[in-house]
Amino acid sequence: MALLKGKKGLILGIANDKSIAWGVARSCHREGAELGFNYLGEALEKRVRPLAEQVNAPIVEPLDVGDDAQMDDFFAKVEQQWGELDFLVHSIAYANKDALKGNFRDTTREDFQLALDISAYSFIACAQRAAKLMRPGGAMLTMSYLGAVRAVPNYNVMGVAKAALEASTRYLAHDLGPIGIRVNAISAGPIRTLAASGIGDFRKLMDKASRGAMLKRTVTQEEVGNAAAYLVSDWASGVTGEVHYVDGGFSIGAGDPGAE
Ligand code: NAD
Repeated sequence: MALLKGKKGLILGIANDKSIAWGVARSCHREGAELGFNYLGEALEKRVRPLAEQVNAPIVEPLDVGDDAQMDDFFAKVEQQWGELDFLVHSIAYANKDALKGNFRDTTREDFQLALDISAYSFIACAQRAAKLMRPGGAMLTMSYLGAVRAVPNYNVMGVAKAALEASTRYLAHDLGPIGIRVNAISAGPIRTLAASGIGDFRKLMDKASRGAMLKRTVTQEEVGNAAAYLVSDWASGVTGEVHYVDGGFSIGAGDPGAE
């Protein structure tokens, strides 16, 4: 049985075929959903369009989540095309590269505001607009990381942004629950992507993640995609406000057993 048959969903945050959002898109497409995508700028449009064709996505539109006018335009196009929406997946984050290495205490006001705006507030801004198109049974999902709740070297201001994102997930679940809309987050283990390449010493983080995980390996884009498909499906109808770890069990352990 296809989990998402007859559902229409937006998946925001595909940059290329390594993106977690693309893993989510493939799982949701396999489960029968009709999908809509955004892209950030013309350079990424060239990468996103061929991917959209692979899954017959009828919506592929520009969207910079830092720009309210573009947000309004984007959701107006979604309403025009579909009328209503069943699910939204937010897989977007950004911070200045310099803020993702060295000392957290050196974070500038500008770096803080940018990271929090694009990586946390944007989920709220998307949720406001998406909720208007959803009926009871609608679902929203965002992507977090363990740095929200632990001090992970180099993750720095993005950890603070993820903490805000996880708290926003709970507050959105509170607000939207009475109208039957669920809001959850996945906390994914490290995966090699464009965004991840901006994090200082990412290779070390991957090594630690696989040694410290209960499964003794890192997770794949497909594994995150499959968990996402479940969370936006009716199979998760009783689940909201949750941060669901897809990290091979790293977060329950004591860390990297090989570390000094
Ligand atoms: P990615 O680079 O493939 O995706 C990040 C996306 O954010 C890109 O598509 C980029 O275009 C988009 N984006 C950035 N600024 C934007 C803006 N202003 N407007 C619209 N879109 C914008 O990398 P990814 O690793 O797939 O990241 C997706 C999500 O998963 C992020 O929230 C990231 O923090 C989270 N995450 C990643 C990992 C990992 O190890 N890769 C682990 C846990 C959580």
